[in-house]
Amino acid sequence: MAKADFYETLGVSKTADEKELKSAFRKLAMKYHPDKNPGDAESEKKFKEINEAYETLKDPQKRAAYDRFGHAAFEQGGMGGGGGMGGGFGGGGFSDIFEDIFGEMMGGGRGGRQRSTGGRERGADLRYNMEISLEEAFTGKTAQIRVPTSITCDVCSGSGAKPGTKPTTCGTCQGSGRVRASQGFFSVERTCPTCHGRGQTISDPCTKCHGQGRTTEERQLSVSIPAGIEDGTRIRLQGEGEAGLRGGPSGDLYMFLSVKPHQFFQREGADLYCSVPISMTTAALGGTFDVTTLDGSKSRVSVPEGTQSGKQFRLKGKGMPVLRSAQMGDLYIQIQIETPQKLTKRQRELLQEFEQISSKENNPESTGFFARMKEFFEG
Ligand SMILES: [Zn+2]
Ligand SMILES: [Zn+2]
Repeated sequence: MAKADFYETLGVSKTADEKELKSAFRKLAMKYHPDKNPGDAESEKKFKEINEAYETLKDPQKRAAYDRFGHAAFEQGGMGGGGGMGGGFGGGGFSDIFEDIFGEMMGGGRGGRQRSTGGRERGADLRYNMEISLEEAFTGKTAQIRVPTSITCDVCSGSGAKPGTKPTTCGTCQGSGRVRASQGFFSVERTCPTCHGRGQTISDPCTKCHGQGRTTEERQLSVSIPAGIEDGTRIRLQGEGEAGLRGGPSGDLYMFLSVKPHQFFQREGADLYCSVPISMTTAALGGTFDVTTLDGSKSRVSVPEGTQSGKQFRLKGKGMPVLRSAQMGDLYIQIQIETPQKLTKRQRELLQEFEQISSKENNPESTGFFARMKEFFEG
């Protein structure tokens, strides 16, 4: 049986480089793979040829021999697989390529996934939710928080092995953390079941952490919350997260701050808004009132005669501090006029009398409003 030229089998030129060979092989191997062509002897034969061709050409020494002597170079060798009998494929080229393909499919790929280095793993990031009052956001504070977290074991210093002993290289995977399993034509790599990818096993585990290299404890942390912090702010505390596994670096701690709604003040950026109800008579006659601001001081607000509902008064610098600056926002007092309710007979008489002697100038907005509206819409 005359063998096809290896270069022709792969459909590449005689000068094809390693990359071209690999890509040609990959394409053809996917096309003729027996799993894709079940029961098709022709495809299987073709697949074996492709494999043999690639097996030879990817090896610079074999390729040089083939270039010089053709197939004769291997006739006495143990290349195998040529005759369509027997199963299996020699060499590592085949599994290498499928490792690549599967690696990509699994989102990892070689080199993409960190090889275990003595089983070290970075600790997880932690999230801590904290709610503070508007007053606390105003002044800033140092919060003492208790974080339940894993910390590096102090007995074994994170190695997981009993003091005086050392983790040993895993016998199942020889330290690579991965094992190769054959499934039909495929050779698939998976995480070593013995060491779970760490590459090491601990025969004499530390009694405190049971070989984990870390223990769960509560730590107290002192966190400084700056004045002016806003609702929804995230503070990152580097290295304050979960301890790494077996000496790996710690994760980070993220604090998510929310500011509780305040009973009297609404916040908009650095400004505060406060709605203040005043009586109808105060609004009409004028008057003063005091508001307590967040710094604890009192500010006097003068309401002039004839103040309307919705009027805003600005108290400069009485708002929230601006984060990391000396600036302060303002406090806006919004006036709401309260209409008297549950009038006594006497009050009613007085108001009726008041209405009788009222003029247009007393109520410019309400007087003739509906007449103006009618005129606007009906011309
Ligand atoms: Zn330990
Ligand atoms: Zn292992």
